[in-house]
Amino acid sequence: DSTVYYDDDADEEAIAHKTVAVLGYGSQGHAHAQNLADSGVDVVVGLREGSSSRAAAESDGLRVATPADAAAEADIVSVLVPDTVQPDVYENAVEPNLDAGDTLQFAHGFNIHYNQIQPPADVDVTMVAPKSPGHLVRRNYESDQGTPGLLAVYQNATGDAHDEGLAYAAAIGCTRAGVVETTFREETETDLFGEQAVLCGGVTSLVKQGYETLVDAGYSPEMAYFECLNELKLIVDLMYEGGLGEMWDSVSDTAEYGGLTQGDVVVDEHARENMEEVLEKVQNGQFAREWIAENQAGRPSYTQLRNAEKDHEIEAVGDELRGLFAWEESTDDEEEESAEV
Ligand code: NDP
Ligand code: MG
Ligand code: MG
Repeated sequence: DSTVYYDDDADEEAIAHKTVAVLGYGSQGHAHAQNLADSGVDVVVGLREGSSSRAAAESDGLRVATPADAAAEADIVSVLVPDTVQPDVYENAVEPNLDAGDTLQFAHGFNIHYNQIQPPADVDVTMVAPKSPGHLVRRNYESDQGTPGLLAVYQNATGDAHDEGLAYAAAIGCTRAGVVETTFREETETDLFGEQAVLCGGVTSLVKQGYETLVDAGYSPEMAYFECLNELKLIVDLMYEGGLGEMWDSVSDTAEYGGLTQGDVVVDEHARENMEEVLEKVQNGQFAREWIAENQAGRPSYTQLRNAEKDHEIEAVGDELRGLFAWEESTDDEEEESAEV
């Protein structure tokens, strides 16, 4: 079973006298930087020339420098720019400014695990990954609540990497909720698999194919939208609160019997085989190579796929319906921004 750490397991002294450079002031960056600073840690935010994030960091009372200057000054460099630009930022601003005994800190393992960043042997490499979008990491901290997180040590040159990572997790509020020990490999592979097979990829395909099946059979697009997309939220909320059991308990017996008998008819053993194929491409690096090449080429297929998704009929139907009903009045807009999974 996984080890879980709480406040009592962490000693914030391990980073209390260190300087942390937070590179990037986006979803994770703004939360880590402000929580660390409020926990008494010396923070410098690293932002490029002309950065659109500079005003926000300064008005939050933080010191801002270039990524290179911030890295040079820091003992811990927290790399919180988007994953696709990290190798470039690392090569230009971080690597030349790393001293022996410094720490490279990440919130996702992709670039280390797939060797896009290859740190020198004399630095610590850690990951503290909140399992939540950044605005919640900040909001929870401010309201004395925690955000669950992951901790991994990839390289422990000083021998102190684990204590320091735990102290970092405590300073951003994660040990209040619980921090699970993992590895860069496990975090990266499960994260990619989850978002591809289930959370982002699997669910959207299921929704679209359900919708198309009903509409092609002559049912109204509005009914198809409600049944196959809108109601998904109610089901997911129940699963989130109390697992599959709470969901099954809450739906009608007819829904439960139909679901239990027909679910595996739709998502059958072929889906399982396909999932294994998806996992294999994550494990053998094929997906990573494809995504890196796609970025290097200027994202041609990504752009095309994005546009095709926007053009799906279910999107236009949904836009119209959401405008007609009052059920979305009290949405918290923030929840919708940048929900990294
Ligand atoms: P964001 O996309 O929110 O980061 C944006 C920030 O990065 C901005 O301050 C932006 O500044 C800066 N930036 C962008 N491009 C560059 C560049 N080329 N050079 C310098 N700065 C740049 O990132 P996230 O917070 O989403 O992700 C950061 C890390 O956290 C990733 O590793 C991600 O996987 C991980 N993570 C993210 C989660 C989330 O909820 N978003 C959850 C858990 C982990 P500018 O104004 O200059 O563009
Ligand atoms: Mg995830
Ligand atoms: Mg992800």
